[in-house]
Amino acid sequence: MRWLRNWRRRRIVARHPLEERLWRRARARLPFLAGLSAGDERRLKEMAMVFLAEKQFTPVRGTVLGDGDRVSIALQACLPVLELGLDWYDGWVGIVVHPSDFKVSRSETDEHGVVHEWNDTLAGEAWPGGPVVLSWDALDEAGSVALGGANVVLHEFAHKLDMMDGEVDGVPPLPTPQARRAWIAVLERELARFRREVDAGRETFLDPYAAEHEAEFFAVASEAFFESPNALQADFPQLYDLFRSFYRQDPAPRLRT
Ligand SMILES: [Zn+2]
Repeated sequence: MRWLRNWRRRRIVARHPLEERLWRRARARLPFLAGLSAGDERRLKEMAMVFLAEKQFTPVRGTVLGDGDRVSIALQACLPVLELGLDWYDGWVGIVVHPSDFKVSRSETDEHGVVHEWNDTLAGEAWPGGPVVLSWDALDEAGSVALGGANVVLHEFAHKLDMMDGEVDGVPPLPTPQARRAWIAVLERELARFRREVDAGRETFLDPYAAEHEAEFFAVASEAFFESPNALQADFPQLYDLFRSFYRQDPAPRLRT
């Protein structure tokens, strides 16, 4: 089965190379794709084409997605798993794209059995075993403010990696129990420090939204790891080291100017 899968993937890569004009367009809009070695760049392009063949895009409420848009989403989604492999995105196929930030209804039952209901407006969402939902407006923003800005694709796909073990807790699957303990120790320490800065009203490099939950801290810091790795390394050196060993990439040198 695995062999068949690899064979299918090899066939996709052979038959559908990424068009050079689409790659150049994505590169121009997404400066963090710069600095990859020739081999890494080729692998990223191949992965993006397999990703496009295996995932299903559903534009809703009038969104129109061109080839360039799909390629741009695929390249951003594949960068974090360049060394981990596309299997990390197994178990789901859908990518839903809304024209702008979308409203969702939430409800939660508290410890007294009281149901709380409210509406959230979101730029993106990732469901365990389900689709990734993205807002087109937020995608466009990712292209224009890539230097330090928010990146909804990197964010939601980081949630997908986090969810691989069934829990949305800022702890992706790790090879050993020791690695898991070390991860939690660093994440909690850095998050506690970040929360103190946010509470003190200090200007923070990471979006204060990251203080909400371990899972959001992981997702927001992962955006920074790929988009503004030198700033992340300067402010959160231990977190940077943790992510470098998890993602098996070192983006800081490749984006140093
Ligand atoms: Zn999030």
